[in-house]
Amino acid sequence: MDSHDFEFSTPGTLEELIELLSDPEKKSLVSDMNVVTLMKLRFATPSSEAGLSSVRGLNEIKEEGGSIRIGPAATHLQIEFSPLLRHRCPLLPETATHAAGTRTHSAGTIGASVSHSDPVSDYPAALLALEAKLHVVGKNSDRIVAARDFLSKAAVVALEPGELLMETTVPVEDSSTGVHYERVFNPGSGFTVVGVAARIRKAGGKITMARVGITGLAARAFRAVNVEQALEGTLGSETDISNAAALVGDGVDAKSDVYGSAEKRRQLARLHTERAICEALRKAA
Ligand SMILES: Cc1cc2nc3c(=O)[nH]c(=O)nc-3n(C[C@H](O)[C@H](O)[C@H](O)COP(=O)(O)OP(=O)(O)OC[C@H]3O[C@@H](n4cnc5c(N)ncnc54)[C@H](O)[C@@H]3O)c2cc1C
Repeated sequence: MDSHDFEFSTPGTLEELIELLSDPEKKSLVSDMNVVTLMKLRFATPSSEAGLSSVRGLNEIKEEGGSIRIGPAATHLQIEFSPLLRHRCPLLPETATHAAGTRTHSAGTIGASVSHSDPVSDYPAALLALEAKLHVVGKNSDRIVAARDFLSKAAVVALEPGELLMETTVPVEDSSTGVHYERVFNPGSGFTVVGVAARIRKAGGKITMARVGITGLAARAFRAVNVEQALEGTLGSETDISNAAALVGDGVDAKSDVYGSAEKRRQLARLHTERAICEALRKAA
């Protein structure tokens, strides 16, 4: 089905884009994957859309002051193959590998994926494990929001009308930190059922830091703090890992749908948490 007629603006500068977004009738449109599908189905009928890709530099990935800053228009493909990210923050490219099939992978952007806040999208698990910071701008706002606050509610992000997710900032990892993203996906939809991002730092033979982000198990992505606490200070033996991973579903209202029951999701989460931690630990120097 064809979409209805609408005006499409291609702002040349960030200021112009923000001005356009401050009009309640307008919305950003990075590529087209979700918005155009919704428009074709007439679930969304905006009278006008503004593109991000016409503003130069919004897809840049650069290292600055000990962190890596990723522009909102950086695509999943760009993130997967960025030499800087692969070398300095490998959890994000590992995660991006899974973010959608061929067409969406090359057109979909990190800014849209995180702003859209699909409860089964892959990035949130990694951004929580990385303790990422998100830079939000609008006509009257300019603030930094921690990923855990940005993603604190299911399918709602900490963006006010007219605001734009500008930059995603992730840390530069050192060689003592090992990372891994592990997921089970639904072959019918291609989307993630349960995804686990693990980030483990080792020193003197012990685990000194553990960060574990989970997507798909509950209505929103979350950090498995109980798993992290059970791991920190241990030697990371098989028993330590399996005891810690067993805690992943505790106190979590696990989702249940046609793909699988809440109990099945809990089991998948335990298994993949164990695997993700083992792999991350193996990669830590
Ligand atoms: C078939 C299919 C399979 C997929 N599988 C997966 C998967 O396995 N894992 C996964 O993680 N994802 C998956 N996705 C999602 C995909 O990764 C896209 O990122 C997602 O669809 C967003 O698409 P887009 O970049 O074209 O955004 P758009 O459709 O252009 O935008 C989505 C929404 O975000 C808003 N928006 C865009 N950019 C910003 C910004 N910077 N600030 C504020 N708001 C913004 C738009 O206004 C719109 O409301 C899949 C998508 C499809 C279609």
